[in-house]
This record gives sequence, C-alpha cells and structure tokens, in this order.
Amino acid sequence: MTLHTAQLRARLGSGEHRELWAEVEAAAAHTGRPLGVTEHMLGLMDWSSLEGCPIRRQLLPLHSELEPDHPLCRHDPLGEACGQVVPGLVRRYPDRALLLSTSRCPVYCAFCTRSWAVGPRREAGTRQRWELALGALAADRSILDVTVSGGDVWRLAAGDLGWLVQRLLELPGIERIRLATRGLVADPAHLERGPLLDTLATLASRARERGVRLALHVHLNHPRELGREAQGAAASLVHAGLTLRSQTVLLRGVNDEPQALLALVKATVKAGISPYYVYNADMAPGAEHLRTSLAAAAELEKQLRGHTAGFDLPTFVCDVQGGGGKRQLHSWERYDREWGLAVFRSPVVDPERLFLHADPLRDLAPDVQRGWLEYDSRLARIESALRSVHCPPSAG
Ligand SMILES: *Cc1c(COP(=O)(O)O)cnc(C)c1O
Ligand code: SF4
Repeated sequence: MTLHTAQLRARLGSGEHRELWAEVEAAAAHTGRPLGVTEHMLGLMDWSSLEGCPIRRQLLPLHSELEPDHPLCRHDPLGEACGQVVPGLVRRYPDRALLLSTSRCPVYCAFCTRSWAVGPRREAGTRQRWELALGALAADRSILDVTVSGGDVWRLAAGDLGWLVQRLLELPGIERIRLATRGLVADPAHLERGPLLDTLATLASRARERGVRLALHVHLNHPRELGREAQGAAASLVHAGLTLRSQTVLLRGVNDEPQALLALVKATVKAGISPYYVYNADMAPGAEHLRTSLAAAAELEKQLRGHTAGFDLPTFVCDVQGGGGKRQLHSWERYDREWGLAVFRSPVVDPERLFLHADPLRDLAPDVQRGWLEYDSRLARIESALRSVHCPPSAG
C-alpha cells in the first residue's frame, strides 16, 4: 500500500515532523517528482533522526538538501524515450530489450532515472499497450532477452503479470526474462498477501520447462532494506524457483561508505540474492545531492573488491548519458578529474560515438564550477575532452 502526498501530509504534516514535511513538499514542488512511500518503508525510517536517515533520503528529499542540477543533467538521462521501438519497448543492445510495463511503483525514488515515465498520475500498464511491445518482440527474432520493468512489476495485478510473462514465454526466441522490482524490499508482505507468489512460482516452473531463465532483479540500496520481512520474501521466491539478483544505485549519504556498501553486499548474499550491479547514479534532475563522483565510485569498488568471493561482488557500472548503455565504471577512455568529466565508448551500441558522464559540481574547484555554468567554457572543455579521445597525442 503506497501513501501518496495527501496521505503523507495527513501523517506528517502536523505534529513533531511538520517542519520536515514542509521541506519535503517544497522539494517536491521544486523537482516535480512524485511522492510515494509504503507503510513498510516508513517503518524502516529512523524516526528519531529522520534527517540523516538513509531510507528517508532516498524517498522524501528535503528542499534544504537539494543542489542545483548539473548543466549536463537531462530529464531522460539515458535517452530511453527516444530509444523506444514502439511505446513501452526500449532497445539499446543487440540481443535484449526493456519493456516498460507500468508507470506505477510502490515507492517513488528521489533519484529515479525514469522520472519521464514514472508516477501515480501517468498511464498504468494495460494488456492492450503491452500488445504493441509483444508484437515488436515477435517480429524481431534477434531479441532473446527481455527485462520487464516500469515502474515496478510489484504494482501489476498478479493476473496481468502472469499474462504478460506467459506471452513472453510463448515467444519462440526468448531465452531470458527478468522482472525488475523494488517491491520486494518496499512492500515485501505484498508477495504473500495475494496471489503474487503463486503466480511467480507457476511462471518459474513454466520457464524451467521451456529452458528460459527467469529472474527477479531487486533494486535495493541499504542493508536496512533487507530486514526480516524482505528476507522472508526473498526466501519464498528462491524456494519457488526464481533466481534473484540485486541492483543498487550508489547514493551519497545512503551507501557511499565502504562499510555500508560491504554490509549491503553481505546482507544481499545472505538473503539469497546475487549482487549484480552497482550503478553510478544517473544525471537526472532533482537528484544532484545524491550523486557521487566516478572517482569516489572507483575508490569504493577498490575498497570492496577482495572482501569476499568475486562471484558475490557486484559490477560497478555507469549508464552513460544519451543511450550508450551500461559501461564498466573504470572503462572510461578519458577522465578529466579537474572538471569531473568522463568520456566513454560503447562499441556494441555505436562504435563511432562517444558518450559523456559528469561528476557533481560540489567537489570541484570554485573556478571550475563557474566554468561549468558558462556555456562557452563548458563547451570548450567538452570539445577538448572529445578531441583528446578521437585524436590522442602521439607518444614521444
Ligand atoms: C540495463 C538494460 C538492459 C539489460 O542490460 P544488462 O547489462 O544485460 O543487465 C537491457 N536494455 C536496456 C535498455 C537496459 O537499460
Ligand atoms: S522503484 Fe525504480 S522505477 Fe520506481 S521510482 Fe524507484 S527507481 Fe524509479
């Protein structure tokens, strides 16, 4: 059950948290991002010290903590809207596609990269709409891997989710299906409250019969999200035959300390979930205060690696701006640390193109920050970074 603005206001708008709530409403008015939190996530918040609470930070941003958007920040950082082959089906890679099944989520995250498509006021998914995507998948045999995301599959009626995945299973070329959700940690009780667990168990056994690998990809960012209830839900899903993998967004003040990240990885493995990706946060509007630099992410990766089995450690990636896809964090062609500007290649997506990523301005020198804010000087710096990759200075 998701509490939206009106219900949250009724809960927090008077009494001891009213000043904090005023900050939350001011931030929402400023960023235009939707508010939505489950009872379960509210229960995970640290109510005696909400300001520093890592769960609150992800879901109820405060006006006072916002930072101005980076000049390269985009409403649709990954270029997904333009990457749709039909409405709701994004194609970036040769063999896989992303199906946007619904615009609804159990919680709305302050850093969501898909704020262009997600929110309680947008169109919910319908079978009629999914037919477009299913038709495109049936027509293109090169796609053998579908990620069903949204929004969040936890918000689909179990019958609709069953119908959609069954249709995907019936496509002859499909080899892998992933269902992306934050619901497992945001509303774990939902799994056994209705028919969802039975639906997923049935789908898992049908997938196995057909030789299709079906997995649930769980978005989780803090060890507290893996409490008793979420662990129980994960165990039920593993028992039902699903593979569970995790996806984590690196967030300042949430999980950007080596100890916090290590604790998260350990809790993830213990819950039967394989750590898959740690994403550098995307350059989405209203999320600047939560972003970390590539250098900080690379350092965290360095601190983490070696602590436990390599197969239990996530890969750190940066989903580069403009649709280059996920790139291994350290694989930049060039990283101008002074300006916090990285250039990536993505040969599979487009061998000719270069893709940019920029660090948050806060850690850069004051004159560099001013440079970023001036059109001519930032353009000159970007051009020089691109040129240095295209035409590297000859050795000697
Ligand atoms: C993340 C993503 C995928 C899956 O990529 P993997 O690296 O295989 O996890 C597929 N399509 C799109 C558009 C994506 O963003
Ligand atoms: S649950 Fe996922 S899709 Fe929904 S708001 Fe959070 S990050 Fe975005």
